[in-house]
Amino acid sequence: MRLLFVEDDPQIAGAVARNLERSGFAVDHAGTLADAKACVEAQQYDVMVLDLGLPDGDGLDLVRELRHRRNPLPVLVLTARDAVSDRVAGLEAGADDYLVKPFAHEELVARLRALLRRPRDDLGDAVAVANLRYSPAAGTFTVDAGQPLLLPRREHMLLAALLRRPGRVVTRNSLEDAIWDFAQEIESNALESHISRLRRRLARAGAKVEIRSIRGVGYLLQPVSS
Ligand code: CA
Repeated sequence: MRLLFVEDDPQIAGAVARNLERSGFAVDHAGTLADAKACVEAQQYDVMVLDLGLPDGDGLDLVRELRHRRNPLPVLVLTARDAVSDRVAGLEAGADDYLVKPFAHEELVARLRALLRRPRDDLGDAVAVANLRYSPAAGTFTVDAGQPLLLPRREHMLLAALLRRPGRVVTRNSLEDAIWDFAQEIESNALESHISRLRRRLARAGAKVEIRSIRGVGYLLQPVSS
């Protein structure tokens, strides 16, 4: 899950971002409202955690702007303001949830997971290729409608990205974007290694799909040709 974390206090930002990464999120950090806007324009996120008091403005302006453009990105507001009127203002601006500082990391993660489980228009319906099915709302893969197929985080994100565009080529760049943060160095063969591990896991699970390499372009997921 790709998360945008908007927070101007470097100490809070560092600590919270590390915890979120440990909890399985790919985190991009923005320290200003302007940075946050640039990130949202450049990248598709699954969820945003937003501090309200930012050096160049009020975080709620960003929420209003997103909703005005019909962008449904789930937003959890993080704020020191605990007055009832402030919470109401946050929700009215279009935030989905809020947490008052200081907060426990476990509570932040629990609320984010709850937000991500919430069905939203942009998540779309479940997609299936052969006997492999992905439910965006639950975030789970199943083979033959059996038990959820549990994958390591990056392979999970990779497979979700491929399954969203079944039978079409997904470029290397967009796959790399889906699984790595801006800040991370990507080794040149890292994507290939993840793809080959994913192929082995899919085969072991009995999924009748194959991930084809399209040389120099990317990958595509399709039913195993018989
Ligand atoms: Ca602040």
